[in-house]
Amino acid sequence: MNLSVKISNISKKFNATIALNSINCEINKGEIFGFIGPDGAGKTTLFRILTSLIIPDTGTAIVDGDNVVSDYKLLRNKLGYMPGRFSLYQDLTVEENLKFFAGVFKTSIKENYHLIEPIYKQIEPFKNRRAGKLSGGMKQKLALSCALIHKPNVLFLDEPTTGVDAVSRKEFWEMLKHLKSNELTIVVSTPYMDEAAQCDRVALIQKGEILDINTPQNIVNSFSHKLFALKCDNMYELNIESQTNKNTHSAYLFGETIHWVAKSEECKMNFISEINAKNFKNFEILQIQPSIEDCFMELMTK
Ligand code: ADP
Repeated sequence: MNLSVKISNISKKFNATIALNSINCEINKGEIFGFIGPDGAGKTTLFRILTSLIIPDTGTAIVDGDNVVSDYKLLRNKLGYMPGRFSLYQDLTVEENLKFFAGVFKTSIKENYHLIEPIYKQIEPFKNRRAGKLSGGMKQKLALSCALIHKPNVLFLDEPTTGVDAVSRKEFWEMLKHLKSNELTIVVSTPYMDEAAQCDRVALIQKGEILDINTPQNIVNSFSHKLFALKCDNMYELNIESQTNKNTHSAYLFGETIHWVAKSEECKMNFISEINAKNFKNFEILQIQPSIEDCFMELMTK
């Protein structure tokens, strides 16, 4: 069996809020699989279901061969979970935190040290420091060590890079790539679209629904329009104009430019004539390659 996670028709409501709406997804053994979506998309709810912390309203999920509802006792020993907000005990030291998590799973730091060594040795010089006094990047390394110390088969990391600096984010993905092996499936969630490229495959998730599941490259390749970046001296006015213009298929502000798609080639020419006639100062239009975020925006408009 090559499947590590099989999610079938999982739905979950909180009162009137539909957090997950009939989610289906399969994750292979040894993959780094990313759930990519903005705040409120349903990522944490899904991770809590997959780690047996909450029960879905409908559907089934099998993780490492076990049903997350009926086999939760077996399952909990085989999965590692790093929740979005760090799970560390702030008043315990680095080493005490690690010992605690090893103890919960009836193992010891010594037994599985080789698994965490490349990560833990970076914070080992601070092993007597309280977790509450660590930097964001160091907390992240300790939390990852704690989630790995019992040698899980599947590791769930819920927004592990949220709130950490750019260098620590990069380092974190490098650590995950080193951890990747046939014995460890890594399921990670992130609101940062640029992190999709670090995963083997991703699911784009929005408002409790999966928009697409594919490799990052195939998602980008499936963008079927010509995409343009627009710029001028008055971006505010240009943003309104491009969003309301009848020739526009889609337009949204993206950093310092507006990402724009025309309804057709003819519409593109009409749009440029209209913009030139309206004297937008220093107007520039440049065809660009779509990113995962552009694909996400396009899927959302469908
Ligand atoms: P994400 O992790 O992608 O930010 P969540 O799974 O946390 O998304 O949330 C999905 C939706 O479900 C949001 O609208 C959120 O407000 C709602 N939600 C999540 N947990 C609860 C809860 N315990 N009670 C009520 N609403 C919740």
